[in-house]
Amino acid sequence: MSTELGIVNPATEEQIATVAVHDFEETGRAIELAATVLPAWKRVTPADRSRLLRRFADVVDAHIEELAQLEVANSGHTISNARWEAGNVRDVLLYYSGAPERHAGRQIPVAGGVDITFYEPLGVVGIIVPWNFPMPIAGWGLAPALAAGNTVVLKPATLTPLTALRLGELALDAGLPEGVFQVVTGDGAMVGNRFVTHPAVRKVCFTGSNAVGRIIMQGCAEQIKRVTLELGGKSANIVFADADLVRAAANAPYAVFDNAGQDCCARSRLLVEASAYDRFMEYFEPAVKGVKVLDPTSESSEMGPLITAAQRDSVRSYVEESEVAFTGSAPEGPGYWMAPTVLETPDTQSRAFREEIFGPVVSVVRFRDEAEAIAIANESPYGLSGSIWSRDVARALRVARGVETGTLSVNSNSSVRYSTPFGGFKQSGLGRELGPDALLGFSEEKNVFIATEES
Ligand code: NAD
Repeated sequence: MSTELGIVNPATEEQIATVAVHDFEETGRAIELAATVLPAWKRVTPADRSRLLRRFADVVDAHIEELAQLEVANSGHTISNARWEAGNVRDVLLYYSGAPERHAGRQIPVAGGVDITFYEPLGVVGIIVPWNFPMPIAGWGLAPALAAGNTVVLKPATLTPLTALRLGELALDAGLPEGVFQVVTGDGAMVGNRFVTHPAVRKVCFTGSNAVGRIIMQGCAEQIKRVTLELGGKSANIVFADADLVRAAANAPYAVFDNAGQDCCARSRLLVEASAYDRFMEYFEPAVKGVKVLDPTSESSEMGPLITAAQRDSVRSYVEESEVAFTGSAPEGPGYWMAPTVLETPDTQSRAFREEIFGPVVSVVRFRDEAEAIAIANESPYGLSGSIWSRDVARALRVARGVETGTLSVNSNSSVRYSTPFGGFKQSGLGRELGPDALLGFSEEKNVFIATEES
């Protein structure tokens, strides 16, 4: 029997909705429905599957504003970010709508016959989504999984289920058959764990914390279940003295304070070459103070609140034990607000410099030379993202090759493009999402040999 959970707007602390908390049996029933409709979904021709995904993208496009407003209310994302996020779901669906007709196997030369390979869908795919980017992370899993012919059950984060629930309705409006894409709300340890334990789920695609990622990987080992893990990060933004310092400093706040720092790709370690440190900080301070931390419904808001009071307490605990260089501003009153905060960190062993804070806090440290910059950047169990600012292209490339991380940008802080692969080195994860090869993560490669010689 499902119960209900109140959903709170983090900018106002008011309850805005209630959603069902599904139990073990209900989750099992959703998985079993996904398994029942799988054979029919596999039989949908590639061109028709493409058409359905394009139609899904069109329906999402017609509801961008509604989805964005829902995300602002549920997650406290700024309206401009939320519009981009809804648009990203549409774009990812469109990108992978071209995939079913291109997901071709190979013909391999062999003796005595013909050898061909097929990409077969895995079956039911369980997608588990965190609260920090509810829409894009849902889309990055569901679009390539459906394109490859799988059926999908998706569990949004307990705190932020509203846009995922709406996407489930929009999929049906677009004509996706009942059961092909379902959204199941509830607790991670119940709904998410059922994805891990139910034998009909053939892959778990998890994005979230390392603690839960470890539990999921262990659980999936029981059935040798396929798993993709997109986990935490502590990325470095490396600024060399020869960089365009004005541009690097103007952009650095948005590399970490976007989404109030609740971003796995946040460049929360800012490494600045010692010879340019003072000049960089002169430009950086006004840039931080200029970040518009406002009501997220405001068109000019650049940063909203944190997701919960508990998250804010956790972030503050790092600040309390550190030396604060300066802060930006944040609204007073209701809402889980926190000002962008800059820590100067002589100690790279401090908790603030080593752990993923997941809030609007950046630690700045100086480095002497290229080798030290790479060494500091790599002194982390994580390796998800990062940036390098330099006018010396050869050096930028050398450093990019030296930093152990999955997604790097030179003279830019961009992290994720749907057309390029995304994922982490080391403890930031396992596997890659997005890009031209995403369907391979949702397919089994089957080899068939046909004898043409009489034996
Ligand atoms: P979380 O691990 O607490 O929860 C993630 C999801 O897992 C939620 O839906 C939750 O309900 C579910 N869950 C919890 N316990 C479970 C269990 N035992 N079995 C199955 N599912 C379970 O993470 P969060 O707090 O929602 O998100 C923040 C974390 O996500 C951060 O560490 C962040 O870096 C990471 N993240 C990573 C990426 C990436 O692409 N690498 C992207 C966004 C967020």
